[in-house]
Amino acid sequence: MSTQTAEVTGTMARRTAQESGSTPLISYVLPVYNEEEGIRTFHKELAAALDGRREFRYELIYVNDGSSDGSAEILRDLAKSDARVRVVDFARNFGHQIAVTAGVDEADGDAVIIMDTDLQDPPKVSLELVDAWQAGAEIVHARRRTRQDTFFKRTTAHAYYRVLRSCAEVDIPLDTGDFRLLDRRAADELRRFRERSRFVRGIVASMGFRQTEVYFDRDERFAGETKYPLRKMARLATDGVTSFSTVPLRMITRLGFFVLALSLVGIVYAVGMRIIRPEITVSGWTMLMVVVLFLGGTQMLAIGVLGSYIGRIYTEAQGRPLYIVREVVRHDGD
Ligand code: UDP
Ligand code: MG
Repeated sequence: MSTQTAEVTGTMARRTAQESGSTPLISYVLPVYNEEEGIRTFHKELAAALDGRREFRYELIYVNDGSSDGSAEILRDLAKSDARVRVVDFARNFGHQIAVTAGVDEADGDAVIIMDTDLQDPPKVSLELVDAWQAGAEIVHARRRTRQDTFFKRTTAHAYYRVLRSCAEVDIPLDTGDFRLLDRRAADELRRFRERSRFVRGIVASMGFRQTEVYFDRDERFAGETKYPLRKMARLATDGVTSFSTVPLRMITRLGFFVLALSLVGIVYAVGMRIIRPEITVSGWTMLMVVVLFLGGTQMLAIGVLGSYIGRIYTEAQGRPLYIVREVVRHDGD
């Protein structure tokens, strides 16, 4: 499905949902990548939490992000047995941020909730997001009060959000992942952002609207391993910085000035020694190597920073579709 058709059909579906009933519809966007061990339990817990609330209608949009285990079959079963479930089946793994995007594209609700499917985002907390939405907020972030992750993940994430906030041009809320609620208006706006290297939480924060936070304690992953290995995490972190800040580019200029200043000191020293103490020559080889390696290193670093911005320009310029859907599975008779 091309982006264009996704947008057009999405808008039509949303209009009909709005006209059809007075009970608000809440869409859950649920990305799934190799979660066969935990996904049934997740669904059961979410369904149990939702059954307590009769004043809303719900739709659960699972996005199967090219899982290579049995997740796809389990999701199919869920769609068969639960009329609220729809499954967007990707043709391959496109990554969490793209999966979330596809789910939001597919959602028809008056509010859209994005949450992980490993029970780290507790289903009960999503109802608190709904309460905050009803109280008038248009975007509700679920902010982690505590989290049960590895020491490495906790410390790097903690530091990252603070660094990002200090260099980014938008106010990205601290300690929030993608667990949040978007009012229909905010979700509609999010659908218009079609950049490839996505940092959804940053995009949402940059949109404005009335935003609030709900605090929660992030649980441990219910089953399986994290699907965010270091490589994917580093990429997300880079996307976050390059999407919302040009500070790294400006740092290159500063680094240049710093190196220039150092070299001036070196020159003054060498010339000074030559005049005052001509019998001492500045030692050769070691100094030369240090200077050459230092310069080589800083230059390569600078090229790397430039490269990551140019890489972004390149992929955006290609304008390829964000994702490819194999099939959207609905409940029989829908
Ligand atoms: N996920 C995804 N595609 C990916 C990686 C992860 O859809 O390529 C989903 C995953 O199934 C989970 C959510 O994104 O529902 C968050 O992933 P995970 O729990 O592994 O990340 P962590 O909580 O460790 O940061
Ligand atoms: Mg998780």
